[in-house]
Amino acid sequence: MGLFKKIAHALKKTREAFARKIDTILSHGELDDNFYDDLTDILISCDMGVNTSFEIVDELRIFARKNKIRTSDDVRKALKSILISMLNNAPKLDFSFPSVITIIGVNGVGKTTTIGKLAKYFSDLGKTVTLVAGDTFRAAASEQLTLWASRSKTRIIKHAEGADAAAVVYDGIASAKAKSTDVLIIDTAGRLHTKTNLMEELKKINKVINREYPEAQKLSFIVLDATTGQNALNQISAFNEFVPIDGIVLTKLDGTAKGGVVIAIEKDLNKPVVFIGTGEGIDDIEIFDAENFVNELF
Ligand code: GDP
Repeated sequence: MGLFKKIAHALKKTREAFARKIDTILSHGELDDNFYDDLTDILISCDMGVNTSFEIVDELRIFARKNKIRTSDDVRKALKSILISMLNNAPKLDFSFPSVITIIGVNGVGKTTTIGKLAKYFSDLGKTVTLVAGDTFRAAASEQLTLWASRSKTRIIKHAEGADAAAVVYDGIASAKAKSTDVLIIDTAGRLHTKTNLMEELKKINKVINREYPEAQKLSFIVLDATTGQNALNQISAFNEFVPIDGIVLTKLDGTAKGGVVIAIEKDLNKPVVFIGTGEGIDDIEIFDAENFVNELF
């Protein structure tokens, strides 16, 4: 599937909910208070967040008055450009190599799958990739990651279950340096921010990376399940207290009508959504692009 088709497919449910409702309220013709109230409700129902939804509608109201817009096409165009500029305001992220990407998140969000997809993504760009099985806590985590390493034809560094995660990371870095690996992707145990010991382990992993690999670009990505909507936002804030989060991978966009959560994440938390998961397959991942995203919403 080509890039646009994948995003179109991933946003199918969101688009069906969003565009249909927008078409309905636009068909009434009048840009009156009722229209703006209904529009606010639609934005909130797609999980764009309450504050952000009000802000979008206020901007549209001002723009519409100033530019005397009347037709539904004009309203759609204005709304699109408001959403795009909002998304473009969030910090952007450029990769430089060598790069160490630590993947964090709670269990079940699609962390392991995402690591497999990222390994394939960077390999396809011609980069060498090594995976680090830093989830030494969950039984079978390392086997599952080994499967993704073989699917993506990348190397994996692992220790026995129950080993010190920071020690595996240390070995991963040594191996990456020895082999001049471009991208080191570190899996970590799925954890809740309430598990203090595991959060401390994350800090330790970070410390090892900073100390052992100062020349690498260091990134922490949190993987979030789009189907959990606004809950995902709370997870970012909770984790960010322990480790600075540089970006978000939003999985399962294909399984939700609440894709608007991307806008809430970028606007409310000022963190970039870097990748989006568009399915269960190894190629079902895309770099997030604001313009494509918004165009596909309508
Ligand atoms: P982990 O516990 O966070 O490591 O989660 P897994 O990687 O094992 O994934 C949990 C489930 O989510 C699996 O059934 C995956 O196939 C599924 N999954 C992961 N990413 C996506 C995605 O982008 N779209 C869909 N539809 N399913 C996904």
